[in-house]
Amino acid sequence: MPTMKLFNTLGRELQEFRPIVPGKVGFYGCGPTVYNFAHIGNLRPYLLHDTLVRVLRSFGFEVTHVMNITDVGHLSGDDDTGEDKMLRSAIERGKSVLEVADFYTQAFFRDVERMNILKPTVVCKATEHIGEMIELIGRIEARGYTYSAGGNLYFDVTRFPSYGELALIKLDELKAGARIEIDPNKRNPADFALWFTKSKFENQAMVWDSPWGRGYPGWHIECSAMSMKYLGEQIDIHAGGIDHIPIHHTNEIAQSEAATGRKWVNYWIHNEFIIMDKVKMSKSSGGFLTLQTLIDAGYEALDYRYFLLGAHYRSQAQFSYEGLDSARSARRSLGERILALREKAGRGPLPEPGPAAHSYMEAFAGHLAQDLATPRALAELWGLLRDPAIPSGEALAGAFEMDKVLGLALESLAAAERAPVEAGFSAWIEERIAERSAAKAAKDWARADALRAELKEKGVLLEDSGSGTTWKRA
Ligand code: AMP
Ligand code: ZN
Repeated sequence: MPTMKLFNTLGRELQEFRPIVPGKVGFYGCGPTVYNFAHIGNLRPYLLHDTLVRVLRSFGFEVTHVMNITDVGHLSGDDDTGEDKMLRSAIERGKSVLEVADFYTQAFFRDVERMNILKPTVVCKATEHIGEMIELIGRIEARGYTYSAGGNLYFDVTRFPSYGELALIKLDELKAGARIEIDPNKRNPADFALWFTKSKFENQAMVWDSPWGRGYPGWHIECSAMSMKYLGEQIDIHAGGIDHIPIHHTNEIAQSEAATGRKWVNYWIHNEFIIMDKVKMSKSSGGFLTLQTLIDAGYEALDYRYFLLGAHYRSQAQFSYEGLDSARSARRSLGERILALREKAGRGPLPEPGPAAHSYMEAFAGHLAQDLATPRALAELWGLLRDPAIPSGEALAGAFEMDKVLGLALESLAAAERAPVEAGFSAWIEERIAERSAAKAAKDWARADALRAELKEKGVLLEDSGSGTTWKRA
């Protein structure tokens, strides 16, 4: 296996990956705040996490992947400014915070599943780990890093000399260019709340008892507390979007290392943003694109997966429908190529890839080992499938092996196009259609959409009309 190299934000260089325990990897990726649907930009970090996990597993590492679900404490500004995202969403929708969290958590998992993103080993909700957060805050307090002011408990960044190392920021510069809407309780603008008791909101929905009073945790502490619970006090890799570097991850490091007195994370991986016609894509700006928007426009979730894999995670990528069209046609050609090779290879079991096919597979692994160079890896897949010197069966076997990492569902792509519509299958389709009609009658749109997506995944398209629903093969 090639040596894995990752671009570590801590140090800003490509580094050889060496796990703490040989052969095992503890990986934590910051998860969603479940106050709204994920927009298509939000899905990029989860595809990156998925790719990282798949690549490491293909290299023989045993990976424990932990992802949090933020359902409390995340204010609209990462630096304790603004309103609680969950509470605001609940008020706007006339629902409870828990209802909002449940609804958008399910929507999130439906999206990532449709994109063939594997479920993390552990998914943990902030509200189910308040005890762990309180305990960790207690440790930070016992080591003298905190102060109370205005009813809240704050982390004093001046007590942590390497504060800002990840973001290459210096404390004195931060003081000068103070962050907006300064909380008068803070001694330094970069200090951050570990525990709030004086809520900014009259009707803060979720509060818990703590040694600092009845209240709720600051946002950053959940990632430190939950990663330590599931991965131990030192972890190999931590990932998230680049927007997390200056505040969220900087604060996570400060509080974690303050609590334990030693280095917390060895490798920090950050994805660049997906932008749209130079406009920032954000949940708060309204009218953002979701995966469902793309599906409704006739694309498949895996077209978007292919689109994302076509750009390196550390480059900013511009989303456009033209770009998505190219991804869709590339994926279709991939399906046709695979089908043609299948016809040639026959239906029997596939042979082991020989040396020529292997050289593509090695190059493929080599690119991925080089900081997850997915565009180059995709080029090797195409090279393998197009090389006339490689017997069809071997090319297919190699492509399916590569697809364990790419997750483009190549085997089912070929199978779906081949499968005749046998009696059992059409009965199964009719059952799904009846279930979907019932869901629509009960206004369970999420279920109805999920059924449509499930059918589409199997190559079946639905057409609704006044007289009912009909179906056809895609
Ligand atoms: P949120 O659910 O709002 O906490 O965001 C989830 C993740 O999406 C975070 O890791 C962000 O860094 C990331 N993110 C937000 N906007 C974009 C974007 N336009 N492109 C890529 N990643 C993004
Ligand atoms: Zn986090």
